[in-house]
Amino acid sequence: MTKSSQPEGRPPAFPYLADPRRKAMRKLHCERLPLNKLAEQYGTPLYVYSGSTVRSRYQAFDAAFDSIPHLVCYSVKANSNLSILRMLSKMRSGFDIVSGGELERVLVADKKAAERVVFSGVGKTAPEMDLALRSGILMFNVESTSEVELLANRASRLKKHARVAVRVNPDVFAETHPYISTGLRKHKFGVPIEEARGLYRTIARHRYLKASGVSVHIGSQITSVGPFGDAMQRVADFVGVLRSDGHQIDYIDAGGGLGIQYHEAALDTFPEKAKTYAVSISKPLAELGVTLLLEPGRSIIGPAGALLTRVLYHKQNDGKQFLIVDAAMNDLIRPTLYSAHHEIVPVDLAPDAKTATYDVVGPICETGDFFARDRELPVTGEGQLLAILDAGAYGMSIASNYNTRSRPPEVLVDGKKVRLIRRRETVRDQVRIERKSL
Ligand SMILES: *Cc1c(COP(=O)(O)O)cnc(C)c1O
Repeated sequence: MTKSSQPEGRPPAFPYLADPRRKAMRKLHCERLPLNKLAEQYGTPLYVYSGSTVRSRYQAFDAAFDSIPHLVCYSVKANSNLSILRMLSKMRSGFDIVSGGELERVLVADKKAAERVVFSGVGKTAPEMDLALRSGILMFNVESTSEVELLANRASRLKKHARVAVRVNPDVFAETHPYISTGLRKHKFGVPIEEARGLYRTIARHRYLKASGVSVHIGSQITSVGPFGDAMQRVADFVGVLRSDGHQIDYIDAGGGLGIQYHEAALDTFPEKAKTYAVSISKPLAELGVTLLLEPGRSIIGPAGALLTRVLYHKQNDGKQFLIVDAAMNDLIRPTLYSAHHEIVPVDLAPDAKTATYDVVGPICETGDFFARDRELPVTGEGQLLAILDAGAYGMSIASNYNTRSRPPEVLVDGKKVRLIRRRETVRDQVRIERKSL
């Protein structure tokens, strides 16, 4: 049975366990904690993360690269909660950042983590560069000649040396949503390999810059490993060219992008998947003697999180059934932004529950405010709790205040323990930085 309501084989973060009082009923848990308890305690909507899942996925990913010197730099933009960053930093994770704000978060989480930070992004500003230079980060991944000139200028002003990698655009196609595909010539990201050679010469001319690496990131939610291997082969060939030009290339940054399975029950085969990914990435680099940098985001945190929501109203329009829930697109925008699929499961699962076909929608005044359309779910009534699964990555980190909705709280579960790692936002929080001056 692979119906979405069937819990068998779900990754271990959110198991159904028997209700001790009514043996036939099953209750969705995060680790050992029943989600209905968390909903009572913290209200809904609520982001719930499994700490042990984050740790085990990080460890599996890290272990997959055992055979090569490497540093896993968790991509902060996937989920930037301070407790998540701190937990990863304690495991010696590095961080991939795309803004000065993310660097500040990393430093708040662990001020000693700066030396394990790589700074990506196509539009770094001077103040962001200054903060990163002063903090002594590991690497700047640069994307244009103008950026190199600005970085050189800031570095010499501050008398701070900086290691630099050019993010090259390998022009490989990776099957994913067009909004999260980045490795083609037509995308704004990276420098075409043919042009990058000249950029390395420019970098080498600047006293405070050191051309130390090559970086690549071909996109996100990529589920076949072929494109990663192809990109790395091109990068490996290019490293040979750069070395013949006299550059000392010590790092290759393979970027992030390893996809997860959003559809249906999947046994947790992540260690094997990470291994396959690691082999395809490492193979072209075997002879190069470089340190490999990796920037996984989604594959570490995605399956560790769920968005818990309560059904406000059941409504029928022209024969169509709607479940109007208290979470909305401001809390989790992936379905409408990327046409993303998220499994939605009831927190209380009755044996042999009948199913019906629903649109699961939020209260926001937008037709795009939906989590699922024409989805077969166990018959669900008003007041019931639903869990939107695999919402740990690009969920809370993209949440907004649209419709003046306050962003949900986040809790981190470990076994039977729970910690509030971000309280529910209030409207007072929202208006505090506004003025009603007339
Ligand atoms: C977004 C991003 C990542 C992380 O991608 P995932 O798909 O979450 O693994 C890594 N590196 C860069 C440069 C990114 O922009």
